[in-house]
Amino acid sequence: MNKPELLAPAGTLEKLICAIHYGADAVYLGGPDFGLRNMAGNFSLEEMPEALRYAHAHGVRCYLTVNSYPADHALQRLEQYLQALAPLPFDAYIISDPGVLRMVRRISPQRELHLSTQANTINRESVLFWQDQGISRVNLAREMTLEDIRATTAAVTLPCEVFVHGALCIAYSGRCLLSSAMTGRSANLGECTQPCRWKYALMEERRPGEYQPIREDSSGTFIYNSKDLCLLDYLPDLVRAGVGSLKIEGRMKGIHYLAGVLRVYRTALDRFCADPNGYRTDPAWMEELTTISHRGYTTGFLLGDPRDVGQSYEAGYLRSHKLVGVIEAKPEAGLAEVAVRNRFQQGDQLALMGPAMKSAVFTAGALQQLLPTGELLPVVVVHPNMRILLPVPASAAVGDMIRLPGPIQEFDA
Ligand code: SF4
Repeated sequence: MNKPELLAPAGTLEKLICAIHYGADAVYLGGPDFGLRNMAGNFSLEEMPEALRYAHAHGVRCYLTVNSYPADHALQRLEQYLQALAPLPFDAYIISDPGVLRMVRRISPQRELHLSTQANTINRESVLFWQDQGISRVNLAREMTLEDIRATTAAVTLPCEVFVHGALCIAYSGRCLLSSAMTGRSANLGECTQPCRWKYALMEERRPGEYQPIREDSSGTFIYNSKDLCLLDYLPDLVRAGVGSLKIEGRMKGIHYLAGVLRVYRTALDRFCADPNGYRTDPAWMEELTTISHRGYTTGFLLGDPRDVGQSYEAGYLRSHKLVGVIEAKPEAGLAEVAVRNRFQQGDQLALMGPAMKSAVFTAGALQQLLPTGELLPVVVVHPNMRILLPVPASAAVGDMIRLPGPIQEFDA
């Protein structure tokens, strides 16, 4: 049984550093073009060397998404882009389009190529086809069952990658025209506005403004709005099935989401691989996954057709905890320099959030704002973008996050 890689999204340099701090084995990021997440921060060509240096210095592999389906008139731009990327030591490109594959082969023949979920690889024959084309890893479509995954990994020699956590499309992984139709922004060009997550109502055309409730019937058909994927409980099955990489979705999500997901999956994966027979899922892990942004959880297609239980009928984005700061330095034991992300005040009950499920609850004590002049100003309430000194538990480390716990509630993403 091989230990699979834990692969995390890195939409920006800050997210890349966060992903590595919280235990990713590999990260994937997008460049300025052809990367299918035009609304994530992404990396310019000038920023990529720094990202690669940081990842490689920490022993983390770094993949670049070039997984859109470029139109014929975009090929010249693609060629220039691939030429510019050629000297950069990415460990692999993630691609979908056979034309992109052919062009990369010509420009960077040694580059390892991974097949994106966007290629919708749904059976072992498809994996074998891509294996014949020189692809060195295939992301299996989220629409595959555990049984199909097992049969596929047993039939092929290249490593297969499976999404274990994150948002789901209601169409085959992004092959969807909803965003194009409603907003003119194409999901297939990385501009999805996620209209499948919006709330819809039914209106009869001669009764404008009169919204009818939409009810579920016995066939369970509803509209859009999938819950998020969470395969935490099936991690052992996926590892035993020989999956080579466990992938987390979310290049556009924030660092709080990234840290929460990674610290759970990192801990679970390490525990299982250290002692497969004694392994048990810790209820605290699932609890942790409800503290961060999510839309309810589903196992997707892993156990068969998810039908209506995979849908969210009412809720938008949910979470219980709010990120209030990131520790950027520890000038002395028990004291942290914190970049404030959300308002909090002296006396609030805060929670330290570190890798490997490191946690501690503490009360916000004396707060001091660190002014650009280097002076310290005592404050009672702190606001986003302030830098402060905050007394923290001894276990706190640079890169750890601090958050404000609360009840699970809906929030605007
Ligand atoms: S609208 Fe929804 S289903 Fe369609 S591509 Fe965007 S996220 Fe996926």
